[in-house]
Amino acid sequence: MTATAGGTRPLAVEGLRKRFADRDTTVKAVDDVSFEIREGELYTLLGPSGCGKTSTLRSVAGLERPDGGRIIIDGSLVTGGPDEVFVPSNKRDIGMVFQSYGIWPHMTVYDNAAFPLQVARPRPPKKEIRERVEQALAAVHLAGYEGRAATRLSGGQQQRLALARALVRRPKLLLLDEPLSNLDAKLRQAMRAELSSLQQQLGITALYVTHDQAEALSMSSRIAVMSAGRIVQEGTPRDIYQRPATRFVADFVGTTNLLQGKVTGREGGGTRVATDVGELMAPPTPGVKAGDTVLLAVRPESVRLHLDEPGPAANVVRGEVDRVMFVGECVDCHVRVGDATWVTRQQPHLAAGPGDRAWLELPAEGLSIIPDPH
Ligand code: ATP
Repeated sequence: MTATAGGTRPLAVEGLRKRFADRDTTVKAVDDVSFEIREGELYTLLGPSGCGKTSTLRSVAGLERPDGGRIIIDGSLVTGGPDEVFVPSNKRDIGMVFQSYGIWPHMTVYDNAAFPLQVARPRPPKKEIRERVEQALAAVHLAGYEGRAATRLSGGQQQRLALARALVRRPKLLLLDEPLSNLDAKLRQAMRAELSSLQQQLGITALYVTHDQAEALSMSSRIAVMSAGRIVQEGTPRDIYQRPATRFVADFVGTTNLLQGKVTGREGGGTRVATDVGELMAPPTPGVKAGDTVLLAVRPESVRLHLDEPGPAANVVRGEVDRVMFVGECVDCHVRVGDATWVTRQQPHLAAGPGDRAWLELPAEGLSIIPDPH
């Protein structure tokens, strides 16, 4: 591998491009993507099907040869640069876990986990292989299962075995492509917590790909939201959820009520926005000035619903209850406001029904301004 000035980040991706020919057109699967992952982070590429996440991850893995850009793993250039470097996948310091776990059914748990070391050149001594396999299996709570046929593991155990196999070489970087999507809903949720605590305990640096926003929000150190081959927003899960930068991010990550408005000025540390349903105060937002057309995003759980007219208060909007949907631990109360229907999340004991008058109180801190309304 070529040493290069890429810093000591476990991963740096710079200006990555990948095109595919599709009949007579070309698809820009990855269109100028750049990001860096810090030591110990779980960094997620999140986006809908076809947005380019897998092509990005496969380029990092060395399974895809990109058309442009550079990839630097732990300070070593593995793809691109003036000499068009391309280090093959098996020479990159990475471990991989995919949706289809890739467990070999004819092998035992031990042999599956040991495989990457058995084929490594130079091959570590037998004793070292045994120690490292035992450590990896213990880390994923599969100690004691060594002699069992891999097919006799549950889905969750097979997924953990795939993780142990990826970890046994102690790679600098772990690549995970939709690793939980073959599991049923309940197990997927349990595995989120398990994978996340393993990643933190073992200090693993990981690039994670998913289209599942709940998975991304609950597990990631940072998230890059992708759309049409590009990263449209990067940030912590809280940033992405609470301060979506575009309509696409607001729509894709969680449920959001969107309201068009025009900035009329600043007041007391907030931003005043004129909308069809009245003037609303939103938090200060850098780069936004009077006269700008913006979108206001309001998460359903940020809305306070009143069935009686509240006293004089700022940021209250009049509406009418459309329907109330029971969703288990809470209810989603849909409220018609002007031409739009808003979703608000309320306590399950809410005594409201269709046609009831409603007042929606929108605390300024629960509103976010999306400067780019497109
Ligand atoms: P998914 O979640 O469905 O896997 P994704 O976000 O991972 O989607 P990619 O698989 O990277 O997206 O695909 C990005 C675009 O590139 C899509 O339009 C896809 O159809 C196209 N594409 C990917 N691989 C190929 C290929 N081998 N040949 C042709 N087109 C491809």
